Amino acid sequence: MFRQLLNWIIKLFRKEELYNYQYVDDVPDQLRSGTVYLVGNAGYYWQTVMLCPCGCSKVLYMNLMDDYNPYWKYKIVGKTISLSPSIDRTVGCRSHFFLTYGKIVWC
Ligand SMILES: [Zn+2]
Repeated sequence: MFRQLLNWIIKLFRKEELYNYQYVDDVPDQLRSGTVYLVGNAGYYWQTVMLCPCGCSKVLYMNLMDDYNPYWKYKIVGKTISLSPSIDRTVGCRSHFFLTYGKIVWC
């Protein structure tokens, strides 16, 4: 309960940052917060990787291949990236959010 309240307060006061994206061949050793990595090559990307936006520093892997469930779709508009559906961690920090046009929208 206290932890949830604390997370809520942190989220409330966190400066809003827009996420950018980067194409990579492989998952980088060091991930930057505020960046969504599209892993793949030759215009085909099978995974997105990002640090959990709550600050817990967990690495989130989202499958982009529709042969496997669950999978996400990404959309690039200008310098922004959107992922759908929402990202819902069922363990740890239990963050649940949408990434829409580079913006984290908490659920
Ligand atoms: Zn987290």
